[in-house]
Amino acid sequence: MTAVDVILEGRELRKEFDVAAGKLHAVDGVTFQIQRGRTLGVVGESGCGKSTLGQLLLGLTGVSGGRILFKGEDVTHAKGVRRRALRREMQMIFQDPMSSLDPRLCAMELIAEPLQIYKVCPSRAALEERVRGLMELVGISERMMYAYPHELDGGRRQRIGIARALALEPDFIVCDEPVSALDVSIQAQVLNLLKQLQRDRGLTYLFITHDLSVVKHISDDILVMYMGQMVEKAPSKTLFRAPMHPYTKGLLSAIPIPSLHGRRDRIIMEGEITSPVNPKPGCRFAARCPYAQERCRREQPDLRELEPGHFVGCHYAPELSGGG
Ligand code: SF4
Repeated sequence: MTAVDVILEGRELRKEFDVAAGKLHAVDGVTFQIQRGRTLGVVGESGCGKSTLGQLLLGLTGVSGGRILFKGEDVTHAKGVRRRALRREMQMIFQDPMSSLDPRLCAMELIAEPLQIYKVCPSRAALEERVRGLMELVGISERMMYAYPHELDGGRRQRIGIARALALEPDFIVCDEPVSALDVSIQAQVLNLLKQLQRDRGLTYLFITHDLSVVKHISDDILVMYMGQMVEKAPSKTLFRAPMHPYTKGLLSAIPIPSLHGRRDRIIMEGEITSPVNPKPGCRFAARCPYAQERCRREQPDLRELEPGHFVGCHYAPELSGGG
């Protein structure tokens, strides 16, 4: 893989927050690369650190450790003019368009906003033309131009969010649970739109979700997070075919199979979720893992490449991969 292929890289990324009880380890040693034009899905339950990871990459919050490389440049601590320039190249699509869009602005004003902030269009006519083009691109009819967010359905609101993210022609977009707030029937439309835009524009996505069934259709590779740590990473097909980490297996077993004959044994992850504040030594999943052994409570497992491109953070993953 050449340096040019890799558009974004995180190396041993860490983010800690000071809380009353100590240090909350929101992101703890996450390493990955994303190639241009591809999608890395980041999956995990609420509170696993996946949204914080997205914010770190965009510089919305500072890192506690590690490095971020964008197109080969170390942008970990970029500030001022460089950070402003990076904001054009790296954008975000938010989960809930109803709360991320200013309710006082109509569709036209919402989409025009980033263009105005960066003074991209030389005239009002050019601005309107650009907004019309973006609306067409994301499939919003021109007659919606002056509609306010509360007058639109969730799918159209999210299309406005996507148009705003695309306005400055970025290379990389963090999609933070972009379809979670939408009806199932609309989710597929928005996912298809994101895929189409990626094909047409060579976009690179980091796609954050708690729902593995959503990420399956859009991701080339998947990174599974548990309590701030990366527990498994693999090409999407491999992860669905042969997951190795007990936590990933548990997540996958919860996905319903849309077939009369399909059946999957649900793995119930019982036990208490340990705290990400001052985490104890050992595997963070041990309290919920059906395979936990004494060693798991003592020693934190390293992330090991068990097959080419398939990384797993579990002491016993190779033996467990056949069962469960
Ligand atoms: Fe389970 Fe132990 Fe593997 Fe952790 S290291 S996932 S507790 S078997």
